Amino acid sequence: MLPVEDIRKKLLTQRRTLFRQAAQTEDELLWLETDVESEVQERGQGEKMVQLLDRLDERMKAEIESIDRALVKLGTARYGKCEQCGKDIPQSRLEALPAAAMCMVCAQAGENKAALRK
Ligand SMILES: [Zn+2]
Repeated sequence: MLPVEDIRKKLLTQRRTLFRQAAQTEDELLWLETDVESEVQERGQGEKMVQLLDRLDERMKAEIESIDRALVKLGTARYGKCEQCGKDIPQSRLEALPAAAMCMVCAQAGENKAALRK
């Protein structure tokens, strides 16, 4: 298992990268560099964040949500466990995708179901 701090940094960087795609003004970019981390801890007071979220598409919003969920779980026993079957998510998968909430098998099953619904 990677050190929690490393995973946390990875997640926050990913999150910032996503938000950066929505930022349009220098002010917003600056805010992203400074405030995102505290924003994660104190949700609900993020007017700017809501504005930025509005500009992101559904896929990116879903990605940010999964990153947020992973940040909440990080440091607890729930991190790195599949939300579907409860098994450990393989280390290689977590390294490539630190926000992964499910093991490969369950994630693929979920994707197949989503594809069927369309
Ligand atoms: Zn699973």
